[in-house]
Amino acid sequence: MGYEVEKVRRAVLAGDWGEDVWLDEPLSSRTSYRIGGPADILAVAEHTDRLQELLGRVREEGIPHIVLGSGTNVLVADAGFRGMVIQNACRGIESVNGEMLRIRAGEMVRDAARHTIELGLGGLEWAIDIPGTVGGSVVGNAGAFGGYMGDVLRRAQLLTPEGEVRWVGPEELGLAYRTSRLKELKAEGRSCETVLSVEVLLTPTPAVLLRKTAAEYTRRRQERQPSEPSAGSVFKRTVQYPAGFLIEQAGLKGERVGGAQVSVKHANFIVNLGGARATDVEALIDLCRERVIEMFGIELQLEIELVGEW
Ligand SMILES: Cc1cc2nc3c(=O)[nH]c(=O)nc-3n(C[C@H](O)[C@H](O)[C@H](O)COP(=O)(O)OP(=O)(O)OC[C@H]3O[C@@H](n4cnc5c(N)ncnc54)[C@H](O)[C@@H]3O)c2cc1C
Repeated sequence: MGYEVEKVRRAVLAGDWGEDVWLDEPLSSRTSYRIGGPADILAVAEHTDRLQELLGRVREEGIPHIVLGSGTNVLVADAGFRGMVIQNACRGIESVNGEMLRIRAGEMVRDAARHTIELGLGGLEWAIDIPGTVGGSVVGNAGAFGGYMGDVLRRAQLLTPEGEVRWVGPEELGLAYRTSRLKELKAEGRSCETVLSVEVLLTPTPAVLLRKTAAEYTRRRQERQPSEPSAGSVFKRTVQYPAGFLIEQAGLKGERVGGAQVSVKHANFIVNLGGARATDVEALIDLCRERVIEMFGIELQLEIELVGEW
């Protein structure tokens, strides 16, 4: 069932939705892939009150919607998104006590990592080069170099689809390898909570050591990962092998469709060489899955999320 798109358009044009709302905004400019057609409506919320207000209104008016952070773990369809995309840019870090920090979900997780390193607090160094927000990192239980968001997260402040704000512990978030209860609900097309902020418990550690570890992670990442636009690892690690190893063994490293390519540097990255369409990336995803199942009998699961009208 469609929502009353023309009515909403008129309201936006009349300024009734505020100045942080745009029509037909290309999502290619809002995602790390640089791919994706237009959102009917895009809003960028810089304050939590505004985020809550927007979510309340889309709920009341029955407008389909999605909250994005910095769009670094999604592949948006060429046809874009019917409804409203709300980009969460609500930033801020504050101290709760010496080792516990409260971070708004729109804060960049790498900025949070830098900040905590300078405070001499360890636990987020793994996130030093992850380009997403803290909210996205909770939803995908982001991690690297053996560290995970779930290791430091003590509780999260959620806004329910009914508009209630509540704090929940990690068990209620259902964090597991690269997923959470929220990500699973989204995958089933069901509504889920929005992460507003988190509290993380860190460990006092000399900043000089943390800087050294972070620099080593940066070096290893630069060595291994491609620099072209991507959404990071496309597939989850399988029980037996890293997905990139299987794709490489299947002979697909460097494979191209249109402007997309299985990276020659790391086969679990599908990169945008310039002008790639979402369908190019999708075709490579399908090819990797087919070839890996054919050769090894192993099913690859997506780590990135497909968003919009496929
Ligand atoms: C070059 C590169 C390297 C990467 N390396 C890593 C890595 O080492 N480890 C890793 O885990 N990931 C990595 N990623 C993937 C990505 O950066 C992380 O998954 C990141 O945590 C996603 O955050 P985001 O804000 O961009 O989320 P988005 O892509 O914007 O959204 C992802 C999902 O989270 C949801 N979401 C976002 N914010 C909220 C919120 N506040 N409330 C509710 N739902 C929300 C969205 O609806 C969507 O379902 C990499 C990506 C790139 C491009």
